[in-house]
Amino acid sequence: MGAAMVPGRCMACQTPLHKQTHGFGSFVCTNCQAMIDHLETVRCKRCALTLGPRLQAFGWTHCRHCKPAVENSTPAPLECVVCSDYVAPFDQWIALLKYGNNHGMARFLGYWLGSRVMESGMALPDVLVPVPVSPDKLKQRGYNQAALIARHLGRHIDRPVRNDWLIKTQELGAQAALGREERLQNLQGAFRATRCIPKNIRIGLVDDVITTGATIQSCEAALRKAGAETILTMAVCRTPE
Ligand SMILES: [Zn+2]
Ligand SMILES: [Zn+2]
Repeated sequence: MGAAMVPGRCMACQTPLHKQTHGFGSFVCTNCQAMIDHLETVRCKRCALTLGPRLQAFGWTHCRHCKPAVENSTPAPLECVVCSDYVAPFDQWIALLKYGNNHGMARFLGYWLGSRVMESGMALPDVLVPVPVSPDKLKQRGYNQAALIARHLGRHIDRPVRNDWLIKTQELGAQAALGREERLQNLQGAFRATRCIPKNIRIGLVDDVITTGATIQSCEAALRKAGAETILTMAVCRTPE
């Protein structure tokens, strides 16, 4: 049990707090909650890049990358909800989960993401499917951070999690050093759905961070191949452009 799991301290900044039994107050202090509450921004409906307040005035719903892809798209284009940009201090919250084996943080991030999804006005998914890691990575880390987030997100929005519907068949090294196009190429065929997905099931794809979107697109392709028609991607953070 890590230091962040000691009861009575803010999950994010370690400030002592009078713990509430439910809601954000059971995880974070009032300062951290205020920071979360002030993140309101308009994002691309497909990839969650920030569009900014000015673009909203023109009724824009998608960024310049996604606009061509969503025009006349069948099946329905991917939809996406995130909590925040991948910047300080939120990147540290992710790091605590990813490298600190901090499962209390997963409870908080799952709760936060669930709250954001319910606020978004988008239809809730029927089933949550975490972005998988390869068997090697799972053995090395001991857990899949996306699956931990999905578990707690599922509890908050009352939806089941299916950890075995999507698998990663191969680990491809040095993704971080590659550009967006190269990543996409590198990831082709890395993910596979393990079952046929009925068209009327809305899939909720869950990840911790969306970086270039290549991983998400690869998972989307695998899910579509298995029959999925509507997919909502949910991630805690999104790397800004
Ligand atoms: Zn705090
Ligand atoms: Zn976009």
